[in-house]
Amino acid sequence: MLIVDTGFMNIEDHKCQICGSPAKHFVFAAFTCDSEECIEAARKERGGPGGHMKRKAEGRPIIPLDE
Ligand SMILES: [Zn+2]
Repeated sequence: MLIVDTGFMNIEDHKCQICGSPAKHFVFAAFTCDSEECIEAARKERGGPGGHMKRKAEGRPIIPLDE
């Protein structure tokens, strides 16, 4: 379900998985709002750099540009 296939999915159709605000980003296989706290929470929920989304957990831009 949560597969990033292109850069133009409707992120705003989703909600931040942490706080429920309208999503602004898709990071660490989770939708988040603009809050750094939510992004960080998503990262932790993902299991950090050891998760299988490792590539995105290495400080790469939060908007995947290479897919
Ligand atoms: Zn949030």
